[in-house]
Amino acid sequence: MTEAPVHEDEAHGGGLGTRLNWLRAAVLGANDGVVSTAGLVVGVAGATESRAALLTAGLSGLLAGSMSMAAGEYVSVSSQRDSERAALAQEKRELREQPEAELAELTDLLAARGLSPEVAREAAEQLTARDALRAHARVELGIDPDDLTNPWHAAGASFLAFTVGALLPLLAIVLPPASARLWITVLSVLAALVLTGWWSARLGDAPTGPAILRNVAGGALAMAVTYGAGTLLGAAGV
Ligand SMILES: [Zn+2]
Repeated sequence: MTEAPVHEDEAHGGGLGTRLNWLRAAVLGANDGVVSTAGLVVGVAGATESRAALLTAGLSGLLAGSMSMAAGEYVSVSSQRDSERAALAQEKRELREQPEAELAELTDLLAARGLSPEVAREAAEQLTARDALRAHARVELGIDPDDLTNPWHAAGASFLAFTVGALLPLLAIVLPPASARLWITVLSVLAALVLTGWWSARLGDAPTGPAILRNVAGGALAMAVTYGAGTLLGAAGV
């Protein structure tokens, strides 16, 4: 709970809130890589014992998933950055065209944060004299004009997080002998899901028990369904 006020007040980027968000996204990305790749390779293992088929399916799943995550993240962060830039441009225009109204607005915003009207006015004047756009960006929009999220960084982080997660089931199904591969994969995946469930709950200040249970149940269900489907297809000789 100690982080909560920081999220609100830390208007500029690069603060604790931003770092926590990145960490949370990384854990969720890795979790996604574990579950989707595990479902894929366990399904193929239900149909065939061929190591080449398992490797092909697992590696394709890893690459397709990580690139899809990266592309999705790139698109979403790009849109967010576009709208932040548009908001900054509008703020710049307003500061040029109606500086008095903008000063009054900044004064009100500072007063709403607990400053007395006189102190708020004084602070608003000083902030405006120093860097009016930055002051409005931080206080009014909650963004740091020099630290907008880079879409390429976000895409790279998603790619990496998914890949790290996906490597676990891929290696667990490909490396052990055929007789042990299924159980080694299932057990290591469930262990990893305990870890990511615990970690994401901790990062979100949520109770860890239910989060771990839901996470493990979701992964177990995914593997059970794809294994069932793979076994049926394999038995049918497809
Ligand atoms: Zn403004």
